[in-house]
Amino acid sequence: MLPNFNTSDLERVKQKLSKPCKIAIVTHYKPDGDAMGSSLALYDFLKEMGHYVTVVAPSDYPDFLKWLPGENAVVNFESQSMPAQQVMNEAELIFILDFNDERRVEKMETLLRAVNGFKIMIDHHLQPTDFCDVTFSFHEASSTCELVYRFARAVNPAYKPTLAFAENIYTGIMTDTGSFRYSSTTGDVHNIIADLLNAGVIPNKIHEAVYDNFSFNRTQFLGYCLKEKLVVLPEFNAAYIAITKKELNLYKHQTGDTEGIVNYALGIKGMRMAAFFCEHENIVKISFRSKGDFSVKELSAEHFSGGGHQNAAGGKSLISLDETIAKFLALLPVYKEALTK
Ligand code: 5GP
Ligand code: MN
Repeated sequence: MLPNFNTSDLERVKQKLSKPCKIAIVTHYKPDGDAMGSSLALYDFLKEMGHYVTVVAPSDYPDFLKWLPGENAVVNFESQSMPAQQVMNEAELIFILDFNDERRVEKMETLLRAVNGFKIMIDHHLQPTDFCDVTFSFHEASSTCELVYRFARAVNPAYKPTLAFAENIYTGIMTDTGSFRYSSTTGDVHNIIADLLNAGVIPNKIHEAVYDNFSFNRTQFLGYCLKEKLVVLPEFNAAYIAITKKELNLYKHQTGDTEGIVNYALGIKGMRMAAFFCEHENIVKISFRSKGDFSVKELSAEHFSGGGHQNAAGGKSLISLDETIAKFLALLPVYKEALTK
């Protein structure tokens, strides 16, 4: 069982929500299913309460999320910077969803730091930074979507999920639990899912929309990564894939195309840790995954300016792709005992 929301914090938030107000919902850069699902579910919930709500995304997001209910009203800071600034400046309340450090909104960080709205964080990443007026942080939670569901129930115990709310929450729980398989998938999570199905969610429709919707290029890119780029290091129970900018361009990379590829490396028998390095303009973005008690969150936070969860973390590197790989390889002996015990 997850702990309840702190009563006095919840009362403060309920007080703020007791009259119609302007609300911005902000999530992290390159939002994933949980980030978009939680933002759009909360958007639906708060709009139904009579508030003026806008979801602000710091960047674009994958096409396989572009069917989520309410998605067409999202303001993208990168492509709609003026409207995004206006929403943020006018917001009395700002919900911070699926991230816990202001740096996670990348170029929107200065704006997020400058605005005066009352900030409420709802998140499930480890070690939140202290930048919100109210912080609801539960790292044991499967997803931010699970927390938004609980938040809606805490604000209004009689709340009946709408189909839009239910589809968004289902999507985020599904994507953040690897389709209900990670250890965070508790009985309580399944009870929430049951409630969402009773609200009209058709599971196979959502699974198909998210997982059976890749472009031909992306599928070929996956094949290329696995056949040509996968490196297995059995002595460390580790595997990695590194992709250059040129290779991304060759396969006409779209946002979201690299998501999930790291899991194929982790799926090889015996692997305890996997990494996916991806070269972008002036930065190498890294995805780490692990099994069991090896914490990629710590590895990423200590060496790659990142963070996340014990078994799923991300980070970045400002040196070249080759230098980044060399740094990673040099670290493996340090972690050998933990990886092979
Ligand atoms: P992914 O590898 O799917 O991009 O991210 C895995 C997890 O690590 C997610 O929970 C994500 O929020 C977190 N994460 C990804 N990139 C970063 C980063 O640059 N900094 C931090 N602190 N967390 C990250
Ligand atoms: Mn999440």
